Amino acid sequence: MSNIRTQPPRPAGQEQPPGEHGRPPAVEMNDVTKAYDGGLIKALNGLSLRAGRGESVAVTGPSGCGKSTMLHLIAALDRPTSGTIRVSGADLAKEEKLPGYRRRHIGLVFQLHNLLPQLTAVQNIEVAMFGTHLSRRQRRDRARTLLADVDLAGLEARPPTKLSGGERQRVAIARALANEPELLLADEPTGSLDERSVDLVLDLFARLRAERPGMTMIIVTHDVRVAGTADRIIWLRDGRVDYAHRAAGSA
Ligand code: ADP
Repeated sequence: MSNIRTQPPRPAGQEQPPGEHGRPPAVEMNDVTKAYDGGLIKALNGLSLRAGRGESVAVTGPSGCGKSTMLHLIAALDRPTSGTIRVSGADLAKEEKLPGYRRRHIGLVFQLHNLLPQLTAVQNIEVAMFGTHLSRRQRRDRARTLLADVDLAGLEARPPTKLSGGERQRVAIARALANEPELLLADEPTGSLDERSVDLVLDLFARLRAERPGMTMIIVTHDVRVAGTADRIIWLRDGRVDYAHRAAGSA
C-alpha cells in the first residue's frame, strides 16, 4: 500500500468528505457496532465514517477488520447491533421496505457476483429491473445498453458459465448500475480477476466516475490500483477507522 500513501495520514475520525451544500451526505455511519456470537466477536467496534455525494471511497485493511460487514450494513443486508447508519439522510433502522430501498438506491458488486447460471447475460441484468415501472421491452433495451457500456456488446445471449471471470464481473457491474443507483457498493471487485480483466474493470470505474459524477462509490479493495481511483482511502482496523486520507490526484 506504500505507493498510495502520498500524504500524511489523518487521525481517525478527522477525514471529511467534500462540501455537501446543506444536503445530507450519501452515507453517514455513527459509532456503529456489529457483534456476533452473543458479543464474543465484534466485527465492527465503533465505526464512524461519511461519504459525500459523488465521492469515491476506497476501504482497505487487514482480513477480518470488518470491511465486508460494513458494506453489508450499508446495503441493509443486515442490521447493526448499535449505532446509526444514514443513507442520503434516511435512517436505515426506520426503513421498512428494505428490498425496495436497495433496488432504488443501491448497486451491489460482490466478489462472488451471484449471477444466475440459468439466465443469459442480458437476462441477468433485466432481473435487476423487475418491480420497476419499466416495461419488458424497456428492460431489455436498457440491459443491452448497459452491456455495451461495459464493453460486452455481442455477448448478450451467453450464460455466465460461458463468460470469463472478468466478463462475469462486468455483467455484475452492469447489473448493479441497472437502476441508476445513488450508491455503488463493491467488495473486492478485482479480487479474482486476471490482469487484463483488472485493467478493464479499472477503466470502467474511471469512466463511471466521469460519466456519473453524482454516484457515490464505496469500494472495499486490497488492490492499490483500485484504491488509486478513489478520492479518499480509509483504513479499517479492529472494526473501526484507523486512518484516512485523500488519494493521490484527487481534489
Ligand atoms: P473483512 O471483510 O475485513 O475480512 P469481515 O467483515 O468479513 O472482515 O469480518 C469481520 C469479523 O467478523 C471477522 O472476525 C469475521 O470472522 C467475523 N464475522 C463476520 N461475519 C460473521 C458471522 N456471520 N458470524 C460470526 N462472525 C462473523
